[in-house]
Amino acid sequence: MALCRALSANLREPLHLSVILLLPEKQFKKSFSLALITMHITAPRIHNGRKWLPEGTTISLNEQGKILSLLPTPPEGTIFYDGVLAPGFVNVHCHLELSHMQGVIPEHTGLIPFLKDVSFRRNEHTEAQKTEARFNAFNQMFSNGIVAVGDIANTTDTLDLRALGHLHFHSFIEALGFTEVNAARSFGFAVKTYEAFATQEPGNKINNQSITPHAPYSVSGKLFQAIDAYQPGSVLSIHNQESEAEDQYYREKTGGVQDLLQAMGIDDSYFVPTGKSSIRSYMAGLGHGRPYIFVHNTYTSREDVQYIKAGVREAYWCLCPNANLYIENRLPDVDMLVSEGATLCIGTDSLASNHQLCILSELYSLKQHYPALEWEQLLKWATHNGAIALQMQDVAGVLEPGMSPGIVQLLNIDTAERPIVKRVF
Ligand SMILES: [Zn+2]
Repeated sequence: MALCRALSANLREPLHLSVILLLPEKQFKKSFSLALITMHITAPRIHNGRKWLPEGTTISLNEQGKILSLLPTPPEGTIFYDGVLAPGFVNVHCHLELSHMQGVIPEHTGLIPFLKDVSFRRNEHTEAQKTEARFNAFNQMFSNGIVAVGDIANTTDTLDLRALGHLHFHSFIEALGFTEVNAARSFGFAVKTYEAFATQEPGNKINNQSITPHAPYSVSGKLFQAIDAYQPGSVLSIHNQESEAEDQYYREKTGGVQDLLQAMGIDDSYFVPTGKSSIRSYMAGLGHGRPYIFVHNTYTSREDVQYIKAGVREAYWCLCPNANLYIENRLPDVDMLVSEGATLCIGTDSLASNHQLCILSELYSLKQHYPALEWEQLLKWATHNGAIALQMQDVAGVLEPGMSPGIVQLLNIDTAERPIVKRVF
């Protein structure tokens, strides 16, 4: 898609600074000896991750992208960018290990057929094909201005991407299993995967991890309890209310989820419907003191949000609009979420259900379907809110002195054209 392009030839000065990031270290140092140690950049509008800054604000930064100060007016030698400057984007929900499934599953099938396809077809590719797709997807995210990612992992495939040290990672090691008698075995498998991530050699970016449940219909009550007890303070992410069938199963134990479980040979005879929505059912059995990221929320009601607000200390609602449009052709009730004061953040989901890994594309889809949303709030969701959801607010999401949050240039927002993102730093 043309919407989000890699660094392109028409990027304005200082070209050398952006390009240097992609060069080997020796060339980096050599090029930099020719560059300024401190530079000043500005644009008609600058968003600091929380709000627009006053006109004329100028970012003073060093050659490593560390912000030294924010000046009220541009000093001599300032470089002027068109459009908007903002902190690098935070992608709160992705599955880089599924990148090889791009284009495999048709659009608008609905979630249940989509899940059947993913589970039956995810191993059709060779290891070499998977690796190539994974690295291509990673490069695409980097070029599209993403600086931090919440990445779901069922395998250890993405250890190689973390080892590159280009993006901050929180890897959510997914526990999966609705057959209650197998809960201990399913959890043991997740712990083994988790340990491979936790013992990875530290790099120059954040590499965090926690064990997390896949979805309400794929995790038994016993497995939920094991996850909850493992690290009570860690951030937990869950695919939430992505289909209507999920709530129907929890309320009545009928519909598409039951069909899916049967198709996969899963014994759900122990499950007793609660008469309530899924989120109100599974959250009743989990500790409310940790941070939660609820992902998708396509069928979440106002009552559900109010239930979480009343009891959960720290809740983030992650929207993945392009994946929702791809799978279910429906979006969450964003107006309701905003009116309830929900803390929103943005994810791309995987290339199995998206045409690109680009946060700006997600914001553009939201803006098209909810024109009243302001870019000021959309950019906050995509930067600062994402960073706090991933517990990375100390390193990403805001333009503040002392931070190295990455910087993106956005063109064509608030115009009839499709917006474009370019990575400046
Ligand atoms: Zn997902």
